[in-house]
Parts: sequence; C-alpha cells; structure tokens
Amino acid sequence: MVRMTLHERACRGCEMCVDICPTQVFSYDRERRIAVIDHEEDCIACLSCSYLCPSGALQHDDYPVVKNFYRDLEFTRKIEKFL
Ligand code: SF4
Ligand code: SF4
Repeated sequence: MVRMTLHERACRGCEMCVDICPTQVFSYDRERRIAVIDHEEDCIACLSCSYLCPSGALQHDDYPVVKNFYRDLEFTRKIEKFL
C-alpha cells in the first residue's frame, strides 16, 4: 500500500487533488477548507495530485514526484546563471 501524507497547514483548499484523483482517495472538508485523505488504500501512486498541488502539500512515501525544472523555484534559482 502507498503511504501518503497531506500537510494540512500547507493545503490551501483548491480541491484540485480531489478532482484529479482517478480512484477518489480524497474528500473535501468544507468547514476546514482542506482536502482530506479518505481512502489511502486506493492510491495507485499515479502522482497526479502531487504534481498538481500548488502548495506541495502531498507526499507519497517511496514515490517522489519529479516536476519540470521551471516549476521548481529553488532549482531554477540555482541554474539561472546558465539560462
Ligand atoms: S491540491 Fe494541494 S492545496 Fe489543493 S486541496 Fe489538494 S492538498 Fe490542498
Ligand atoms: S497519487 Fe494518484 S491515485 Fe494516489 S491519491 Fe494522488 S491522484 Fe489519487
């Protein structure tokens, strides 16, 4: 089973993970305005949610998401002198 973490303090409640997940792992807590992991056991590690999340709030143990470098500000700063 894939182990997941949703960092609640980072979540900005955009619901993109809720909408994109093909196996309906998430629900949305309207009161707290954050996504909630409801069915971790159904995660197939497609990483769509991690890729989309604007806050980097979603992690999957052993499945690091690789984003294009221009989306990674820290990496971009390191290589900007070569651009
Ligand atoms: S995509 Fe990220 S910020 Fe948006 S609701 Fe999901 S966990 Fe929260
Ligand atoms: S990795 Fe894919 S299957 Fe797993 S929670 Fe995210 S969107 Fe859903």
